[in-house]
Amino acid sequence: MKDCVFCSILEGAIPSERFYEDERFIVIKDIEPKANLHYLAIPKKHYKLLSEMTASERDDLGYIMSAISQIAPKLGLGGGYRLVINQGDDAGQTVFHLHIHILGGQKMDFPRL
Ligand code: 5GP
Ligand code: ZN
Repeated sequence: MKDCVFCSILEGAIPSERFYEDERFIVIKDIEPKANLHYLAIPKKHYKLLSEMTASERDDLGYIMSAISQIAPKLGLGGGYRLVINQGDDAGQTVFHLHIHILGGQKMDFPRL
């Protein structure tokens, strides 16, 4: 997708270290970390919004969530982590290529959910 920062990262036009990669998604570090460890799980397919995914596309999301739980210890997140998806303006979504924030490396005591 043209003018999409995460598509540019996936294509290699913007360099980034990949902490994990398989046929469906990559894991990179967030450029502006909001926790001691802040990764982004980015699907290789450009989905704009969670709300626009079809039932079959949502299979990608389930796969990615499950894979994250498998690779978490290798990411230094053996003690736990928080997954966040910002959907739309009210949530503060800034990159309109669906992604999952993976936050950890500390006690996630703010905000208390
Ligand atoms: P959103 O606000 O859309 O849920 O999250 C977008 C995230 O992408 C933000 O946390 C922002 O710091 C991160 N981000 C934006 N541009 C880049 C980039 O070029 N590289 C990396 N690694 N992260 C980025
Ligand atoms: Zn994209």
